[in-house]
Amino acid sequence: MAEDYYEILGVPRNATQEEIKRAFRRLAKQYHPDVYKGDKKEAERKFRKIAEAYEVLSDPVKRAQYDRFGHVGPEQSVDFGAEGFRRTREAFEEFFGPSAFEEIFNLFFGEGRRTHTVSRARRGEDLEYRVRISLEDAAFGTTLRATIPRYELCGHCGGSGLAPGTGLRACPTCRGSGRIEYRQFSMFGTFVNVRTCPECEGVGEIPEAPCPACRGTGRVRERSEISLEIPPGVEDGARLILRGQGNAGLAGGPPGDLHVIVEIQPHPLFARQGQDLWVEVPVHYGTLVLGGKVRIPTLKGEEELEIQPGTEPDEVLVLRGRGLPGPGGYGDLKVRLRVVIPKKLGREEKRLLQAFTERLPPPDPPRRPKF
Ligand SMILES: [Zn+2]
Ligand SMILES: [Zn+2]
Repeated sequence: MAEDYYEILGVPRNATQEEIKRAFRRLAKQYHPDVYKGDKKEAERKFRKIAEAYEVLSDPVKRAQYDRFGHVGPEQSVDFGAEGFRRTREAFEEFFGPSAFEEIFNLFFGEGRRTHTVSRARRGEDLEYRVRISLEDAAFGTTLRATIPRYELCGHCGGSGLAPGTGLRACPTCRGSGRIEYRQFSMFGTFVNVRTCPECEGVGEIPEAPCPACRGTGRVRERSEISLEIPPGVEDGARLILRGQGNAGLAGGPPGDLHVIVEIQPHPLFARQGQDLWVEVPVHYGTLVLGGKVRIPTLKGEEELEIQPGTEPDEVLVLRGRGLPGPGGYGDLKVRLRVVIPKKLGREEKRLLQAFTERLPPPDPPRRPKF
């Protein structure tokens, strides 16, 4: 059976809130380790009982449940975490002065109870940023300037989240342990469960005073100028990871990464196939027949290409090394020649072409196309 909270506090069942508070203070003072002459363990046990009794009886809802059922809810817990300890602490500190509650618990449990496996510091989030670049920039690489919204270290506190000149103090809710215990009453007895402290998130410490500039987070939102190095030969859709260029960490934690996703704009002339480029160049029929020079656009400007006499219109000419860079060197520029059929001819041009065509031998017989 649960213990009688009224008996623990030494108050009648119809005690007022003021009487309960007074009794709690009197007993808490009595079992204060500075005053208590007996065993320290005994003082701790007593103090816990007093705090538990006060926690229930000072809450009208819990008190009503307790009065009716002799315990707090069928499977409900007495929450010693956020609400409960806060109220108990307030009542205590009202009487003994600020941080008295903390002190008494430090005396009871000592520094050894603290577990600092959890740190206040948290790594900053990764950010994603998309850039659209030209094929030329993708081929030869470029440096882009960009303005991205991201969290930067707070200059006021240097990222610690603490007001300048202040430090950390033990979390009063969990007394520095990072965990809170709550009791569950059932017909089999009292179970003590442990969970992460909601006030300090398991860290056990909270800032004495949070930095006013960043409200204790250690970082502030800014629009940051960054420079992005795009390496030569970058693929469309490539993800470049810039270590440490993401959001600043929380409370001095390491920064996240910046992921840059590269999108290559379609080029008006060139189509890309791996490291190779394709371009279609219109030529006159006569140039294919007689040979000659045509100007070919490349990523670095125009070049002249020699057309051999008798070149077929579906022939693909290759300009070696005029493609995109890659691990094995540069790809090629492949040139597809397209015969221009003139739509508007003058009287004289028509006559010449007519005369020329009549002089040609008949064309080859039809044949099966090659695929
Ligand atoms: Zn700050
Ligand atoms: Zn805590």
